This record gives sequence, structure tokens and C-alpha cells, in this order.
Amino acid sequence: MRRFLVLLAIMMVCGLLPAYAQPFGEGIGDLLLPLAGNRNYDVQHYDLDLTVTSVEAGNIEAVMTIGLTPTRDVAQFFLDFEMLPIASITVDAQPAVFHHLAGELEIVPQQPLRAEQPVTVIIRYAGTPEPISNPMLGSAGWQTFAGGIYVAGEPLSATSFIPINDHPRDKATYEIAITVPKPYVAVSNGVLLSTDEHDDTTTYTWQMAQPMASYLLTLSVGRYSLYEQVGPDDLPISNYFPTPLADALSRIFENQPDMIAFYSERFGPYPFDSFGSLVVADPQFHYALETQSRSTFSTNILQSGRELVVAHELAHQWFGDSVSVHSWRDIWLNEGFARYAEVLWLEHTQGRAAMLGYLRRLYMTATSSSVLPGNPTVNTLFSGAVYDRGALTLHALRLEVGDELFFEILRTYAERFRYSNAATTDFIALAQEVSGMPLDALFYVWLLGETVPPPEAIGLR
Ligand SMILES: [Zn+2]
Repeated sequence: MRRFLVLLAIMMVCGLLPAYAQPFGEGIGDLLLPLAGNRNYDVQHYDLDLTVTSVEAGNIEAVMTIGLTPTRDVAQFFLDFEMLPIASITVDAQPAVFHHLAGELEIVPQQPLRAEQPVTVIIRYAGTPEPISNPMLGSAGWQTFAGGIYVAGEPLSATSFIPINDHPRDKATYEIAITVPKPYVAVSNGVLLSTDEHDDTTTYTWQMAQPMASYLLTLSVGRYSLYEQVGPDDLPISNYFPTPLADALSRIFENQPDMIAFYSERFGPYPFDSFGSLVVADPQFHYALETQSRSTFSTNILQSGRELVVAHELAHQWFGDSVSVHSWRDIWLNEGFARYAEVLWLEHTQGRAAMLGYLRRLYMTATSSSVLPGNPTVNTLFSGAVYDRGALTLHALRLEVGDELFFEILRTYAERFRYSNAATTDFIALAQEVSGMPLDALFYVWLLGETVPPPEAIGLR
């Protein structure tokens, strides 16, 4: 889904397109970004072979192998991909015709695809990726800076440098081999399968063996030091820090094993084979992102509220990554949950008074905004109210059902929708099922009510 498609979506909503005009490409059916992703197939696996020929210039050569299964008979299909020059595309080893326009890649195989018959698509390309620049969603995706390269962005990011079905509803496994000039280190999601030394280059091969949404792909090339920790049940925690900052950063992240143990108790088992954090020292980078199994942080975001940012991104591994949104409109299921996980960590480490103080701050944000966490627009997707009023919604639920049922609801939700997607209605139905209580009214006032309930409703005054 490209900026052009965002614009088309707005034009369609605003009635600026004639009814007969069909955009190039077809969305997966997201409620908020109706043209995001693509329908008619399901990707099982992406195998990326990426060579960074110049880190300074950000030049790449790539071979992307995609295993996908059509969900219906189709003569052609679409992938999301920015405008890098493509050398060739094959479908089951047969050359395919393709058209590449405004971020949508149409592929026409020699034979129509048959429903439920898997195919292998191989795309060879090279070039210099650019960030995706969107006035509503900011700059995202492939970024180069003096220290190297990284990829970050939500809801769109990966299409800046790889062809992909860019929506959380089509999750897939990944193997990503990155060849970089020495002495650079290449970091991505999951487990490092191998490090192969060549004369002037090194190939780092990473595997994400659990299904992953496209925006959760991380990739960085830089001069990194590895800081290893061990989590519960011998979970490997591999952190990559810019070498000059490694000592200072290792102190900020030292509680990660305890955090994983704490959240595993509250939310159920940690969902992936490995964890770790990646810190990128680009001075223009100002946020953190819950990239799957390896959270990505800017050095800027670690300047303040350090431990809660680390806790927030870790909690997303359960809520956001393992259980992902069905549509982007459900974003409070990610951000409200991760914000409330901060509240839980504060309560656990500093006690009830600290928790109440933090909840009061969240309440102030919630009451100073007209954004409804249950119904954000593209512009307000990451508004503070989505996070803070979303978190207060969970606190209201906790007070209503009691601690025992509340954490049972969270654990059941994490388990039932593991590696999958959930909508707000799924969570409400599950909360009612587990608690045996009618909760529609509670969710309605907290997620969609024009007025935030009074502070006394959640024990604040
Ligand atoms: Zn978040």
C-alpha cells in the first residue's frame, strides 16, 4: 500500500473518484486503509537474499523468493513494492509478465494460478531504496544515515525495499540473508542461523520461524556490538548496540530477563524462539518499534522513561506481534495493551502508589483528547489517547472482573489468537466468555464514548 493508494482511499471516501474508476491493485479489505495489502492469496514464506553493495550509498542487489498459495483462481496477482528496478520475475520457474506502478507490482504468470495450488515466485532486483514518505504517516521504511542503514515504520515499512503483501492479516515466516562489506554487522528478526565470512564481506542469515506481520520486519547494518542475556527457560536474548554506546546501553536493558519472566506469568509463555533489542544511533530517528523478537529503539527515545519504553516494546511481542490487529482500526489492541503493560511493570517494581500516579497521567491525556481509541482515523492511529485511554479501558476491565479473571482473560486472548489476528469485537467476546459477565457497556464507554468516564470509575480522584 503506497502513498498513492492512501490518496486514492481518501479520494474514494471523499467521493472524488468516479464510481467506475478502479485503482491499480486491490486491497486486503482493511477497515481503515481499505487498499492496504492484497487479496486472493496467502503468503507462507519469504526468503530474501540481500546484498548491500555500498552501506554509505545504501545500494542493494536482491533476490526475493516467495512461497504463496492462491485462495481462488486468478490470472494475475499484486504485491506491494516501491519503485526499485526489477530485472526478472518467475512464477514456478516460468518467466512472468509484470507491471510496476506507484508501489503496486502486478504479476501475470504464463498459466493462471489455481486456488489452493502453492507457487514459488522469484523476483530479482537492484537499486537504491528510498524511505516511504507520507504526509499522514511520516517517513518510514529503508533509512540510511552516517552510521549505516535501518528499516522501521508502522503501518507501512517493508515495501520500501522488498516486494511483500503489506498487511498484518497475511503473516508469513522469513529467512533473511544479508551480505555486507566488512566490518559491518547485519541484524534482523529471530535467530541468527549462520555467519559466513567471505574475502571482503560477511553474510548474516536470520530466521523468523513464527509467522510475522510485514511491518514488524527489522533490518539494520552498522557497527554493532552483541550483548547477550538469558531469559526464562533459557530463552536467548541477543541485543545489538552501536559499539561506542554498548556499555551504557547494556545497563538500560539489564532488566529484560526479569521483564520477560514477569510478563510470561501475566500473559502466558513468551511467543518466539528468541528476543533482543536493537538500538540505532540515527539522530533523526525518534521512536521505538516492537519489531518481532527484536525491538528497535532510537537512541533518542532512550533518553527519558527508559525502562518503560523497553517494557512497552517487549509487551508488544504478545500483543501486536503474536496477536496482531485484524484491521488497523483495532490499533488500541496493540497500543492500549502495551501501555497497560507499562502500568503493570510499574506496579510490580514500584508498588501501587506509583501505579496510581501513572494512571492519573494517562487519564489526563485521555481527557484532553477527542480521539476515540475504538475508532481512530489514519491521522490519529498513534495518538496518545489510543495508548492512554486504551490502557485505562483495560484498567476498568480489571477493576470490573477482578485480578484473577483479568489475567485469565489476557492469557486466554494471547493463546487463542497466537500468531494470528484479532479484532476489538473478538477481544470483547472473549472477555465476556471468560468472565461470564456482560461487558459491552464498559467497552463502549471507554472505547467509543464521547466523554471519558469520571476518574472515580477507575479508582482515581
Ligand atoms: Zn507501542
